[in-house]
Amino acid sequence: MWAGLIELNRARFVRGGPPVFGFAALCRELTGADVGPLARICAEDVAKRYSSACFETARRKKAGGRARYPRRKRAVVPVRFRFSAFTLDGRRLRLATAKGEPELWVRLARDVPYDPAAVRAVTLIVDAGRLFVDVSAEVPVEDHDLDPGRVVGVDVGIIHPYAAVGPDGDALVVSGRALRAEERLHLEDTKRRSARMGRKAPRRGQRGSRRWRRLRATQRRAERRHIAKIHLAHHEAAKTVIAWAVARRVGTLVVGDPKGITHRKAGRRQNRRVNTTWRRTHLTGALTDKATRAGITVVLVDERGTSSTCPRCHQRVPKPRGRAFTCPHCGLLAHRDVIGAANIAARGGGTIDDVPDESSTTHRRAGTVPTRRDRRRHRWDTSRAARRSSPTPGRPTAATTVGSRSKGSQPAQHHPRARSDRAATKRHPPRIANVITTNATGY
Ligand SMILES: [Zn+2]
Repeated sequence: MWAGLIELNRARFVRGGPPVFGFAALCRELTGADVGPLARICAEDVAKRYSSACFETARRKKAGGRARYPRRKRAVVPVRFRFSAFTLDGRRLRLATAKGEPELWVRLARDVPYDPAAVRAVTLIVDAGRLFVDVSAEVPVEDHDLDPGRVVGVDVGIIHPYAAVGPDGDALVVSGRALRAEERLHLEDTKRRSARMGRKAPRRGQRGSRRWRRLRATQRRAERRHIAKIHLAHHEAAKTVIAWAVARRVGTLVVGDPKGITHRKAGRRQNRRVNTTWRRTHLTGALTDKATRAGITVVLVDERGTSSTCPRCHQRVPKPRGRAFTCPHCGLLAHRDVIGAANIAARGGGTIDDVPDESSTTHRRAGTVPTRRDRRRHRWDTSRAARRSSPTPGRPTAATTVGSRSKGSQPAQHHPRARSDRAATKRHPPRIANVITTNATGY
């Protein structure tokens, strides 16, 4: 479908005609065409996706930005089923098919955590060769008897995903240590992997070798697992903040909006840190979703300058280098992210009588730090492995991990544990579908 739409507009371009972007016009082009065994609405959904992608490109081009019209012929495109186009029956899910085609039932790997009557739409997604179902449900807003006059300021950061300051002069800091460890390990793992893949990469216009395609599939699986871990940690962190706010009957959450931070020039190193390892959209989104569900109003404020202004004497302070903030004017000493959160709260109408110090700050963790035995570590942690006289069980020796460069090395040297792991995955092939859930309120 997707490829067909690209072809359609390419053909029109070659003939010198105007392209078709409008959804209705695309649907007209579809009339009479065979769109396969899935329901017609699936084809229309693809057309809708294509249409909005084209309009978005046109809008960006008009605004002077750099954008390109869709041109990659994707083999699979997410498809959304709404209303009567799906039926949810426990772990079984029916997806609409074309007239005359047999019914299509999909088995889910786990239960959907919502009341089936509340589910409004399901989206079929393929990621790294596996099928996923993204579920949108209408969830009622909880009633916690909150006071909208009580304000919490939240600073969304790189080192600490969230730092919050409450109305009673206390603070909460969620540590991102696990997140950073995971990011670092994944980055290192990806580097090693792509170095190995690069030698096998196909030339332009050539189909990759089987070996290369297998490596690429592994790469994608690792990427998906990594993102799942990061997102889970974000949700944990957001949950901690919301529970903390609800316990204080806070009705308003003021969140520092770092909009524009990724466009600012901050030097190559800082830019890379900001753009690659800080998934701020997800971080802010997770917090906003959970707040809305708990009945808390979210206000976004510009966070510029909040980490370099003293909340007590309102003077500008040179940006602190470490995590500690010291005011040279009034001598205030506090956690840098807590200062940011206090200033953000003040910008959103909150009043902070006293800036929380270390004694009134709660520290929480989110996510799990990758273990010392994490398999990804084995790929690059060779120096330590080489020094060890007898390798830890489950840890392949340096010869098998690094020495595979030469063709003559024996891949059969894997430790028995590694082999049993592989056997285990063979015995339990991945089942058809997994469920990702999203909190969509007011859908
Ligand atoms: Zn000061």
